[in-house]
Amino acid sequence: MGGEAETSERQRCDLLVVGSGAGGMAAALTARLLGLEVLVVEKEPLVGGTTARSGGWLWIPCSPHARRAGIVDSREAAARYLRHEAGNHFDPERVEAFLEAGPAMVEFLESRTLVRFVLGPQFADYHPDAPGALAGGRSICAEPFDGRRLGAALAMLRPPLAELTLFGLMVGSGKELTHFFNVTRSARSAAFVAGLLARYARDRLVYGRPMRLVNGNALAGRLLASALELGVAIRCRAPLVELLVENGRVAAWYGHGGDIDRREAERIAGEVLESLGLPTARDARVDGLGAAGLKKLELARALATRPTLLLADESLGGLDEQETEQAADLLQRIRDERGITIVWVEHIMGVLMRVVDRCIVLDHGEKIAEGLPREVAHDPRVIEVYLGTEAEAVQEQVAQRD
Ligand SMILES: Cc1cc2nc3c(=O)[nH]c(=O)nc-3n(C[C@H](O)[C@H](O)[C@H](O)COP(=O)(O)OP(=O)(O)OC[C@H]3O[C@@H](n4cnc5c(N)ncnc54)[C@H](O)[C@@H]3O)c2cc1C
Repeated sequence: MGGEAETSERQRCDLLVVGSGAGGMAAALTARLLGLEVLVVEKEPLVGGTTARSGGWLWIPCSPHARRAGIVDSREAAARYLRHEAGNHFDPERVEAFLEAGPAMVEFLESRTLVRFVLGPQFADYHPDAPGALAGGRSICAEPFDGRRLGAALAMLRPPLAELTLFGLMVGSGKELTHFFNVTRSARSAAFVAGLLARYARDRLVYGRPMRLVNGNALAGRLLASALELGVAIRCRAPLVELLVENGRVAAWYGHGGDIDRREAERIAGEVLESLGLPTARDARVDGLGAAGLKKLELARALATRPTLLLADESLGGLDEQETEQAADLLQRIRDERGITIVWVEHIMGVLMRVVDRCIVLDHGEKIAEGLPREVAHDPRVIEVYLGTEAEAVQEQVAQRD
C-alpha cells in the first residue's frame, strides 16, 4: 500500500506500517530489506507496543535453534498439537503456512537484522500431555540486548512494565529467573545474579537507567535498532486516523501532489462522480454498476487527478451498441468541457471517427494513414484493412459530423 502520514510534514513511502510492535516492525524490516521505502507510524510517544512489555517468547516449532540443539520434532507433530488445541478452529492451510514460515522468519531476521533468539529447551508446550506436544524446544526468546547499541534512540523505546522488573532490573524469564530462584542454593546461580546486579549498578551510575534489555523489551529494542540501521522512517505520536479507501479520493489526493486536504479531495471526487452520472455517496457500492458503470468509474479515477492528457485504451470493449455510442459522446464531452487531450486507441473505427479530431491508423505496427477523419475514411488502405463493407456508412457519419 502506498501512503502518506498525516503529520505536519508530509512524507511519501512505498509501504505505510501502522504500529511499532513486533508485527509492524517485522513487516517494516522485511519490506525495507526488499528495497521499499517504509514509514512506520505509531500513535504512542514511544516505540514497541505491547511487544516491548511482553515476555518476548515465540512459539516456533522446528526453529533453526531447535535443530541445532538436537530437539526431536516435526511439522506433523506440531500440527497434531495445534489440531488438538484449536478444535473446530483448526485451519490446516494457515497452520501449514505458519509452520513453514516460522523457521524461515527466524533465519531471515537473524541473518539480515540485529534480531537474535535463544532457545528455551525446557520451556514446555502449554499442554505437554496433549497429542503432538513437546516438553521443550519449541519456544524461543529474544536474546538480551545491550541498550547502548541504540544510543540516543534508546529514549524512543517503550520501557518494560515496572511490575515485571526488580527495582528496574529486567530479569529474563527463562534461565535467568531460574538462577534468581536458586541464588541461595547454587554457587553458579549466586555468581550469575551477582554479575547481573553489578552490571545493573554500573548502568544506573553511568547511564541513569538499566541498559541490559531482556524479554519483549529486548525484542522491541532489537527491532528498533535494526529499523534505524536499515533506514526505516519512524514517526511517533502519529496515529492512523482513517484509511482513504475511496478510489476517487485517493486519486484526487495524489493528483494534487498531496497539497490538498481530505475535504477538498472529497469535493473533487464528488464533482467528478456527479459529472459522469455515478453515485456520489461515500459508501456507494460498485458491484451493481455494470460494465459501462465500471468503465466510468475508471474514468472518474483518472479525472480526479486533474489530467491534461488521457489515454483511453480500447475503452469500448465489452459494451453494447448503445453503451458504445454513449461512451464516445462522454469522451467528447470530457474533451470539450475540461479541455483535456485524449489519445484514444480503438478498433471500432466508425464510432471513433465520429468524435475525434485526428486519426493515425496502424496496421501490424506500421502507419498506413494519418489525417482528419473525413480524409482517413476515404483512404483505400484504411478501407481495405479496417472499414470493409462499412466504409460507406462511416464516410456518411463523418460527413454528417462535418
Ligand atoms: C505482560 C505480557 C506478557 C506477554 N508475553 C507474551 C509472550 O511471552 N509470548 C507471546 O507470544 N505473547 C506475549 N504477550 C502478548 C504479546 O505481547 C502480543 O500479542 C504482541 O506483542 C502483539 O504484537 P503486535 O505487533 O501485534 O502488537 P503491539 O505490540 O501491541 O503493537 C501494536 C502497536 O500499534 C500501535 N497502534 C494501534 N493503533 C494505531 C493507530 N491507529 N495508529 C498508529 N499506531 C497504532 C499501538 O500503539 C502499538 O504500539 C504478552 C503480553 C503481555 C501484556
